[in-house]
Amino acid sequence: MRRNAQHETAAEAVLSGQVNVDLSAISDNIKALKKRTAAPHFMAVVKGNAYGHGLVDVARTAVAAGADWLGTAQLTEAIALRQAGITVPVLSWLYLASQTSATIREALEYDVDVSLGSVGQLEVLAGIARQLGRPAVVHLELDSGLSRGGARKEDWAELVARARQAELDGTLTVRGIWTHLAWADVPAHPGNAAAVAGFQDAVAEARAAGLDPELRHVSSSANILDRPEFHFDMVRAGLAIYGLAPADHLDPADFGLRPALSVTAPLVMVKKVPAGTGVSYEHQAITHEPRYLGLIPLGYADGIPKGISGRSLVQIAGRQVPVIGKVCMDQFMVDLGPDAAGIGVGDTAVLFGYPAAGAASADDWGAAIGSPGDEIINRIAPRLPRVYQSSAYECPDYQEPAGGEQTSHVA
Ligand SMILES: *Cc1c(COP(=O)(O)O)cnc(C)c1O
Repeated sequence: MRRNAQHETAAEAVLSGQVNVDLSAISDNIKALKKRTAAPHFMAVVKGNAYGHGLVDVARTAVAAGADWLGTAQLTEAIALRQAGITVPVLSWLYLASQTSATIREALEYDVDVSLGSVGQLEVLAGIARQLGRPAVVHLELDSGLSRGGARKEDWAELVARARQAELDGTLTVRGIWTHLAWADVPAHPGNAAAVAGFQDAVAEARAAGLDPELRHVSSSANILDRPEFHFDMVRAGLAIYGLAPADHLDPADFGLRPALSVTAPLVMVKKVPAGTGVSYEHQAITHEPRYLGLIPLGYADGIPKGISGRSLVQIAGRQVPVIGKVCMDQFMVDLGPDAAGIGVGDTAVLFGYPAAGAASADDWGAAIGSPGDEIINRIAPRLPRVYQSSAYECPDYQEPAGGEQTSHVA
């Protein structure tokens, strides 16, 4: 077991909550997903600090498990992967196009592929590529209906013509064409088939303009599981590699996928209070009989949603106990009941995740606040230490970069 550098000793780490990440679950999930797709390439999406699981550790695990591409939204995360010594192709799709951007320049120097969805972005990338003396490698993005990044259908012809010209000028190489579906999480929605048909037209138009994209990619997790006809040359898997449900009707367990993350914290105080005791700010909860209260050292500054008050979401000593009173910034209270026999300070409270049978899942927490489980996981604060464990994970050919800042030690 390994913990990150800010938390020097095990004793210190147990004073706060922690995020436990099971890298073998991520590895197994990727292997299971790869069996479900005939696409020759598999991108593990590690944006948002790998959905809160830890960018570099997840990326290394993903590559060792057979992901041959990594994807991030932000260029800074793509650059961080390179600085950690990861060499597989990386695509990044969100940046501010500016001729003076040191970040874009650095990303191109590090061989990061970037998404390209407008003539304005093209001009910036081509200009920086000219200064660097080598082409920027891009994936043209079609806006197939999400109205997010990418070029709309009516702007596509100009974009592909300009991209082809830039290839001839030596400033651009178009390696891919891609889109992200507005109905990605509802695989059966007819909007998907219509968007994919539009995508195929866009690819044909690009080829007619002289481009020769090697990679067409469309599908994120839900369509990986449900719509093989949308897989093309590469799939981009996020939620599913973390064992999270990518759609309401898709239970990860049915596909052999399991969650990779749990949040735990020690019980830091247990106290008996009489009937009629108000609990937490504004006494929104009042005990109706003598009760035992437990104190958990996590709060909304750690990403614990305030809306979980009153919900039985915390497992301590095999019992599922409710959160009582308002969640505070750094702490919240649980109602241990009229009898706390067998429960004491230092016991581990499992908020959600994999380690304890019967504990709530991130999706249960999401349901309690009317949101999917990935929002729960993504809001867990970076300040919580990530503790990595793995039964199977080995990355034999990875070498720590000399002088790299990745410190790790056995706890
Ligand atoms: C987040 C994201 C993905 C992964 O989506 P999941 O539903 O988490 O699998 C794929 N592609 C793009 C462009 C994304 O932004």
